[in-house]
Amino acid sequence: MVVSVIAVDIGGTKIATGIVDNDGHIVEHARVETPKTNDPEVVFAALASAVDSLPSSLRAGATACGVGCGGPMRTAPDGGMLVSPINIPAWRDFPLRARLGAHTALPTRVDNDAKALALCEGWVGGAVGERNYLAMVVSTGIGGGIVLDGRLLDGADGNAGHVGHVIVEPEGRLCGCGAHGCAEAEASGTAILAITGRPPKEASPEGIERSGRLVGRAVASVANLLDLPLAICSGSVALGFGAPFFAAAQAELDRSCRLTFSRGTRIVASTLGSDGPLIGAAAVTLRRG
Ligand SMILES: [Zn+2]
Repeated sequence: MVVSVIAVDIGGTKIATGIVDNDGHIVEHARVETPKTNDPEVVFAALASAVDSLPSSLRAGATACGVGCGGPMRTAPDGGMLVSPINIPAWRDFPLRARLGAHTALPTRVDNDAKALALCEGWVGGAVGERNYLAMVVSTGIGGGIVLDGRLLDGADGNAGHVGHVIVEPEGRLCGCGAHGCAEAEASGTAILAITGRPPKEASPEGIERSGRLVGRAVASVANLLDLPLAICSGSVALGFGAPFFAAAQAELDRSCRLTFSRGTRIVASTLGSDGPLIGAAAVTLRRG
């Protein structure tokens, strides 16, 4: 049984580390800014320092290390995990699992940060006891993770659940992925800034409604495809918009989920708050297989 683990959440602006216990409580935490650099070793040194700044007595009791990191990522031929986070240009095919495992001398598991959050929702969040759900993040980008039949979906390279690239506006804006009209290109914080010239916190009521509607459209496609009754949504843009965003998303779900099994699919705000990513990183170590 896991008593406590070292949890690491790696984002484009900050790297958070913590000790998380068996019940999903953060016992201790630390954070550093993610260096703006092209040198992969500088980023890793910042990560290592954030791990080492946790009290050594707690680190000594940890039995594993779990990591949530921005995608994409892929499994190396030797079984390692190579990460290429879009918002950390210094890391391209960086062997994160091997390097962090060597640094901590602990069994180390790495997964996509949105998938880690999905695990967290099922562990201590809004999906406890739910065997089929989508967890998604609407912030500067849009990501997600899917639990189906009680199992987190991985896909061929471990990137399953990227709901941000469900197309919601045919012939819409060019997305960073190269396609047009993805949810991320139309409804994310970055998209809202590009479309309106204003950051999401200055969005008009119409802009909030549109973002919610398009997120709802993406979720509806996923719900119809996979028979999912629940989507839990977090992220600074969605939670910052609040009730009008979720009302618009739900209205679109009600309009577009018309099959007997998908009718009534709900989208709700995550209640995990800022602890979710770190607890999710810890949950990565609890997966079997
Ligand atoms: Zn895309």
